[in-house]
Amino acid sequence: LVLVCGALLIYCKFAQRRAKLETVSVNPHYFFCEDFYVPDEWEVGRDNISFIKEVGQGSFGKVYEGVMRDPDTNTRKPVAIKTVNDKADFFEKLKFLKEATTMKYFECHHVVKLLGVVSQGQPALMIMELMALGDLRNYLRKCRDDEEDFPDFHPPTAGQIRQMAGEIADGMAYLSHRKIIHRDLAARNCLVAGDGTVKIGDFGMARELDVSNYYRKDQKALLPVRWMAPESLNEGIFTTMSDVWSYGVVMYEMVTLAEQPYIGQSNDEVFAFVIGGGTMRAPVGCPQDLFDIMQQCWAYNPKHRPTFKFLIEMLLPFMSDAFKDVSFFLQEVAYSEAGDDV
Ligand code: ADP
Repeated sequence: LVLVCGALLIYCKFAQRRAKLETVSVNPHYFFCEDFYVPDEWEVGRDNISFIKEVGQGSFGKVYEGVMRDPDTNTRKPVAIKTVNDKADFFEKLKFLKEATTMKYFECHHVVKLLGVVSQGQPALMIMELMALGDLRNYLRKCRDDEEDFPDFHPPTAGQIRQMAGEIADGMAYLSHRKIIHRDLAARNCLVAGDGTVKIGDFGMARELDVSNYYRKDQKALLPVRWMAPESLNEGIFTTMSDVWSYGVVMYEMVTLAEQPYIGQSNDEVFAFVIGGGTMRAPVGCPQDLFDIMQQCWAYNPKHRPTFKFLIEMLLPFMSDAFKDVSFFLQEVAYSEAGDDV
């Protein structure tokens, strides 16, 4: 009897262990994202969010304009709501919530703010500051003189372009200070607020800098060739200095009202042209100071390109007082002049 009981006990223990092993080794697709994302103080109840209309299509799913209610004060504010496609798999949903997590720690007037997350239930939602005039590329296209559908949009003056350029440089100076490489800076990834302020708005390809200060990309993927620096095309190296190259292309987009960079050349031709040391010519009517900045950003040697801080310094005399009140760069300067530099 003792032997039988002993054998039974050993069998039970073994079966229990096997059951445990089976539980941890099931297909990860069967888990819900909520199991991997811990709701925190950013969590918003789904019933506090209402949708108004679709405003864009993101890589994860549709983007809507909507309203978020504060349950404590019962006040409502306009917001943008990013969603994940119903058909997205587990990993995409997790990537979406990871992007939201990255954004929780950003605190810069010129980087679009995360306002909340709905992680419980489906679909997961990212609640963002509403940028009423949409992405910069579409905005610039609406400003074209021959664009009759948008009579209230006018081509920006050179002064407004310098202002927008300063705002983008400020957002980028903040990201590089936080050791983030954007890797996909382009007008399509900047957003325009109702008052015309431009902010950095999309971090789909952003990665934290590693210790060696650059990100090396070994696998081929869909790459924004027309915005990429020669070292990124050639060796897959992305750094803050390659973001500066892309910034020069964004300036080109602003001056040309979002003309395709290297228009008339195929992607392969652009690839060969840029690696061979080619850069774009000055767009027709481009103010010389703006083209000088573009050319500095397109220095072949990354070390010869200006930093985002240097770019803001160049643009500072043209910036509005409102910019000076909210600029990350100026706060930094004040901070270091107070002797608190880290
Ligand atoms: P994803 O990062 O998922 O690719 P995007 O951030 O590029 O998505 O958003 C797709 C489109 O949705 C943008 O081009 C823009 O038109 C719109 N959009 C995104 N975020 C906002 C926002 N905060 N306010 C207004 N419109 C937005």
